[in-house]
Amino acid sequence: MNRIHDPAKKSVTLIPGDGIGPEVIQATRRIVNAAGARIEWEECEAGARVFAKGLETGVAPETIDSIHRTRVALKGPLETQAGSGGKSANVTLRKMFETYGNIRPVRGMPNVPAPFGGEDVDIVVVRENIEDLYAAIEHMQTPGVAQGLKLITRKGSEKIIRLAFEFARAEGRRLVHCATKANIMKLTEGLFKRVFEDVAREYPDIEARHIIVDNCAHKLIMKPRDFDIIVTTNMNGDILSDLSSALVGGLGFAPSANIGNEVALFEAVHGTAPDIAGQDIANPTALILSAVMMLRHLGEFEPASRIENALFFTLEEGRALTRDVAGARGVGTRAFTDAVIANLGREAQSCVRREYHPIRLPPVSREPVLVKTSRRAETGVDVFIESGLETEALGKSLEWLCEGTPWRLKMISNRGTKVYPPSRALSDCVDQWRCRFVLRNGAALDDAEPAILELLRRLHGHHRWMHIEKLQEFDGVPGFTKAQGEE
Ligand code: ATP
Repeated sequence: MNRIHDPAKKSVTLIPGDGIGPEVIQATRRIVNAAGARIEWEECEAGARVFAKGLETGVAPETIDSIHRTRVALKGPLETQAGSGGKSANVTLRKMFETYGNIRPVRGMPNVPAPFGGEDVDIVVVRENIEDLYAAIEHMQTPGVAQGLKLITRKGSEKIIRLAFEFARAEGRRLVHCATKANIMKLTEGLFKRVFEDVAREYPDIEARHIIVDNCAHKLIMKPRDFDIIVTTNMNGDILSDLSSALVGGLGFAPSANIGNEVALFEAVHGTAPDIAGQDIANPTALILSAVMMLRHLGEFEPASRIENALFFTLEEGRALTRDVAGARGVGTRAFTDAVIANLGREAQSCVRREYHPIRLPPVSREPVLVKTSRRAETGVDVFIESGLETEALGKSLEWLCEGTPWRLKMISNRGTKVYPPSRALSDCVDQWRCRFVLRNGAALDDAEPAILELLRRLHGHHRWMHIEKLQEFDGVPGFTKAQGEE
């Protein structure tokens, strides 16, 4: 592809995608060009056509090269590959460019019916997009017990929380909620909450509040106007962002940005909608709003506001609404796009006036960050054992095996509840047991590994273990939780 680059223009990778993708991309491209944005498009392929060529990732190498160059992409929805592989080109792109931050603004729209009369709803959900259960580190520990690791890191939490506060500053917003389940998952969700409290101190101009995620879901329905920005972990964010978009009229209106250290991808939340593809009836609003976010990301504030105003004006007028909103009276994708273009330069009543600034994110090193502690001690080990024995028999057997070793069996839990020494819990046990061994007399070692290996040797031939976890203390703080009922 030989092209002459106009230095006054910013290059953007444009991926039309599948289903309704090409129609909504074409609509958005026309509007962005008509608004006078200084953008040069590099059209590239991903999705169904790439899978059809036999490329497993669903993303053409030229597309990856282009994004490496432009650092910004506007993409249509991409099909997930049919068949057993089930590869998603969307996921390939997000993972490849480590877009850790998913930003989903949720704004009430004029003349768009919403279940809770959401016209003045104006919320942004900022979701961590890499870690948590989505790291998808999963194992079948026994044929009947599956385990998924919930990974939350200080580095990952700090990046997303800083992004939320910087986004608040860039849009002149005043309140950031952090939604977690820290009351139950004290170490994982708790780490996210602690990092939030630390980072919030650097932003005294913005109010910071923590909220338990289930309460957040409830309040989003009851009092959505109490929220401004919500920052949250991956799984919580998945649910809260979909819930929030339902507050304001659904999929046709939900834009998103996927922000990485170096690359940003902008896309509508909706999928390929094959049922309406190629019929000129798709609503391009979600992608147009994604492009508005993209233009602000690129510092093209003026065309971004022109487009936003023209779009809101078109909805306010109500003469050219798409069919998902207006039913049979509705107009097609092209006619809606023409109306928005015709309204460029008009001011919408319902468009919130904000002073937009660029988001300022500190550079992040891709090197691993070693979080230092001044004191580290190893006090025990959890050994996960597969066994069909009765609780009592398993406990006695493990106590017998510990005799003459530095270890004492402190307790056994089953699915998080202590069952040995016997308690009154009516646990319905499965064949995966977490057996907690601690060093006798509360001892702590700098390196308990030789003793752990000796313990595993003793267990060998008697019990089948499938997983171990050291019990560590960092600067005197236990790096593990207690089982339900454990003293
Ligand atoms: P995918 O498998 O790619 O996720 P999907 O059809 O299962 O696609 P969505 O595209 O997210 O899921 O949407 C579900 C339905 O919502 C669509 O079938 C379509 O009827 C409607 N819809 C989605 N996006 C739009 C849009 N932009 N305009 C109008 N209707 C839409």
